[in-house]
Amino acid sequence: SPFAALGLNANLQRALAEIDFTQPTEVQAKAIPASLAGRDLLVSSQTGSGKTAAFMLPALQLISEKPAPARPHSDEPVKRMKGKRPRPQPAQPSLLVLTPTRELALQVSNATLQFGKHLRRIFCASILGGMPYPKQLAMLAKMPDILVATPGRLLDHIASGRIDLSKLDMLVFDEADRMLDMGFTDDIDAIVAATPATRQTLMFSATVDGNIARLAARMLRDPQRIEI
Ligand code: AMP
Repeated sequence: SPFAALGLNANLQRALAEIDFTQPTEVQAKAIPASLAGRDLLVSSQTGSGKTAAFMLPALQLISEKPAPARPHSDEPVKRMKGKRPRPQPAQPSLLVLTPTRELALQVSNATLQFGKHLRRIFCASILGGMPYPKQLAMLAKMPDILVATPGRLLDHIASGRIDLSKLDMLVFDEADRMLDMGFTDDIDAIVAATPATRQTLMFSATVDGNIARLAARMLRDPQRIEI
C-alpha cells in the first residue's frame, strides 16, 4: 500500500484501510518518512490537510516499538486508608501533543484511537482546561503513553508532580500559530523546559511568520522544513 511505502507498519496500514485512508495526503507523504527517520520538522499546513495523521502515525509506530509501561492492575484492590494513601507515581508519557483548544485536543485523541486500533494497548489521555480534576487524575493514574493537552492545564499537573515529562520521546505542536495568538508563549517555554533535550520535536502551523520562526529556533534541532 502507499502507506507501507512511507514506512508504516502492517498494523497501522490495517487501521488506515478500515477508515478508508487509501492515499496519503501531501503533508503525510512528506512528513511521515522524515519523522520516522527521527528528524525534527517545521511544517506549514492548514486544517483539513491531513496533518493529524502526519504526526500521529509515525508517533504511534515509535511508541508501539517500545515496551508497554508498567500500569496498575485494574482489579487490584484499592486501599482506602484515610490519610495513608501513597502518593501516586507521576504519569510519564512518551508523546506529548500540545494544542491550542479543547476541541482540537479531542479531535486528535479520537484520531489516535482510530489509528492505534491494531497496536498493543496504547493509552491516550486528554488534559484540558475546564475538565474536572478527578476525571483527569483517574486518566493520569492509568500511566498514559500519550498526552494530548492544552498548555495551561498541563502546567498545573507538572507543577503538582502528577506529570513527569523527563521520559518524553516526542513533542508535537499542533497549530502553533494559534497557541502563540492565545498567549501561551510562556507556558510553552515552561513545558518544554521540563522535557529532555534529546526529544524529537514536530511543529505544525498554518502560517510561519517571525514569531513562529523564533519559537521554532528555540524548540527545534536542525528541522526539515515542509511547506504544503
Ligand atoms: P486533519 O487535517 O488532520 O484535521 O484531517 C482532515 C480530514 O481529512 C479528517 O477528517 C481526516 O480523517 C481526513 N483524512 C486525513 N488524511 C486522509 C487520507 N489519507 N485519506 C482520507 N482521508 C484523510
